Amino acid sequence: MIPALRDLLGRPLGSLRLSVTDRCNLRCRYCMPEAEYVWLPRSSILTFEELTRLTRVFATLGAGKVRLTGGEPLLRHSLDRLVAGLRELPDVREIALTTNGLLLAAHAAGLKAAGLDRVTVSLDTLRPDRFLRFARSPRHADVLEGIAAQAALGFTHTKLNSVVIRGFNDDEIADLVDFARARDLEVRFIEYMDVGGATGWSMADVVSRDEILAAVAKRHGQVDPVGGGSPAAPAERFRLPDGTTFGIIASTTAPFCRACDRSRITADGTWLLCLYAEDGVDLRTPLRDGATDAELAALVRDRWARRADRGAEVRAAMPGRGVLYPIEGLRADPRREMHTRGG
Ligand code: SAM
Repeated sequence: MIPALRDLLGRPLGSLRLSVTDRCNLRCRYCMPEAEYVWLPRSSILTFEELTRLTRVFATLGAGKVRLTGGEPLLRHSLDRLVAGLRELPDVREIALTTNGLLLAAHAAGLKAAGLDRVTVSLDTLRPDRFLRFARSPRHADVLEGIAAQAALGFTHTKLNSVVIRGFNDDEIADLVDFARARDLEVRFIEYMDVGGATGWSMADVVSRDEILAAVAKRHGQVDPVGGGSPAAPAERFRLPDGTTFGIIASTTAPFCRACDRSRITADGTWLLCLYAEDGVDLRTPLRDGATDAELAALVRDRWARRADRGAEVRAAMPGRGVLYPIEGLRADPRREMHTRGG
């Protein structure tokens, strides 16, 4: 067991999110609502070899849980090659993927064969017309096909991520529980966050943890908290009388910064120590300038030891909270976008 590095609040360097691309094939209103985006220059995107090398360095420091995200990670060609490379790293304990599911049916078998452990599929609505309006895609059926495909291949502990937004899908909360239960998935409702690209964010659109619980209880009966579990897990888990479990990620109304062990690397190699961080640490330059693993590890160790970020808590305490970044700020620095940082 690798002794975990601790930051200034005693939080270990835990799970690592790798954003493998900033591009996406959806335009969800809460994430990429604008007509045009400034993309990271192609030459700046880390190769699979570079991503694998950084992951090896992080894993030797204790970050053995890796999640591939984006943008839409399945837009990155031959992602299974990256998974296979990560699988060979002795200190990597778990490799997971967060995807919108559009391309999952086509890639699930290759990813499974390469060693992917777990999948999370994002699905906010069960209604194709809403999907069209909200994510600007007619391909709702492809997501359902992706969900079926991963199950047929034997993936287990698959999760469904649903961001709940008032007036959009808050009337589907209980339906999403039914949908997940019927497919042996665990749904995790996510409070709408004012991160990165949420340029239309307003507190009035946030459906709180308590409201979500009330909506589930109304249809499904008593909701009991599930005890135990990792303190660093972002979702609070609950159980229904029939044993069905679901989660809530209350990052907006009840942030969990004190237990946050996550950090993320953008597709161009910027290491972010908090989803809300203004800036990150450039790992691409030392990587491409020939830094050794030991030098990269020293950089990570030194910066983690000085980490004091509590982005979501700071935002929650802010009076008159509005959007985090206006669109001009995002254009000036695309690394502030959620699709660049990897949610
Ligand atoms: N494209 C992949 C997907 O859709 O799962 C991975 C990237 S996406 C940025 C990761 C997760 O962040 C998704 O579950 C998405 O719903 C969530 N997300 C994006 N913007 C959000 C926001 N403003 N508030 C809460 N969750 C958000």
